[in-house]
Amino acid sequence: MISVATLGSHCSLQVLKGAKDEGLKTILVCEKKREKLYRRFSFIDELILVNSFSEILEQRCQSTLEKNNAVMIPHGTLIAQMTSEQIESIKTPIFGNKWILRWESDREMKEKLMREANLPVPRPVTNPKDINNLVIVKRQGAAGGKGYFMAANEQDYDKKRNQLISDGIISEDETLYIQEYAAGVLAYLQFFYSPLKEEVEFFGVDQRHESDIEGLARIPSEQQLKSDKVPSFNVIGNSPLVLRESLLDEVYRMGENFVEASKKLVAPGMNGPFCIEGVYDENAKFTSFEFSARIVAGTNIYMDGSPYYSLLFNEQMSMGKRIAREIKIADASNQLDIVTT
Ligand code: ATP
Repeated sequence: MISVATLGSHCSLQVLKGAKDEGLKTILVCEKKREKLYRRFSFIDELILVNSFSEILEQRCQSTLEKNNAVMIPHGTLIAQMTSEQIESIKTPIFGNKWILRWESDREMKEKLMREANLPVPRPVTNPKDINNLVIVKRQGAAGGKGYFMAANEQDYDKKRNQLISDGIISEDETLYIQEYAAGVLAYLQFFYSPLKEEVEFFGVDQRHESDIEGLARIPSEQQLKSDKVPSFNVIGNSPLVLRESLLDEVYRMGENFVEASKKLVAPGMNGPFCIEGVYDENAKFTSFEFSARIVAGTNIYMDGSPYYSLLFNEQMSMGKRIAREIKIADASNQLDIVTT
């Protein structure tokens, strides 16, 4: 029997609940400090306790996973806590395409893939001297928005960067990535590509709530001007959004273009869940600043199924369950090698 394994964080509850609902065995790689939390959930069949997630590279974890015919579901925590080399060296089959995760972590590769997919991306600014519109300054990898800041010009950039260095949030030698700020309504578009059906499914949309940029918006400008704190974009949670129906055609097109571009640049392509993240401006024009090449935590809001999946499935279908369904179908038809890498 196949089992589904993941790291205890991010969207692991949703993923393992979905797998259990599909009749698969569930395994959680769990940090000892979180054991109490995860023991609360009876749909988790087995815990592999670790001090740190990098222990999944060790023989003890690998052999337990192998013994259980596990498929590992990658999520944001895996990317945030392990290097691309470490992820690529995991022996357990990874759902989707583990090679594309490097493209998510590396800013230049990310931009290349987004351009190949024809996604309208914000203009990158290579030298702080060239900042003449509002920009957002980001760290490498999936930092979840922590330590990001906005700057209006070079002087502003230097001041905030120095402040974050002295606060110990970023290091002196850290290469920061500067990009024009795109204003509008945030929309994180969640998709699933089934390599078995060769079809893109649109699952849902979420918005992220980020601290303390949202906190700043709640105080009057007089107090904002007096504050010299650098607000960050640290994700605290997510909430649902539905789009104007007239936008859906373009949403599907973006998802399909992304899948096509991925097939060209990083075989076997964008299999499984992914997310295109950006903003709609006042003309409903979408600008995309980011993608995630795996399940995003924003899908947690639809554990009972999403509005758009209720149009495609006559049953409650979470993203976790959709992943498990794909694994089950692939296993039954001896095609697990198509849905994993
Ligand atoms: P994750 O991997 O968790 O998605 P990340 O560290 O790669 O996060 P981004 O998603 O690129 O970070 O950015 C974090 C947040 O910063 C976004 O959710 C959004 O609110 C804001 N943001 C990023 N880029 C832009 C932009 N160009 N214009 C406006 N807002 C932006």
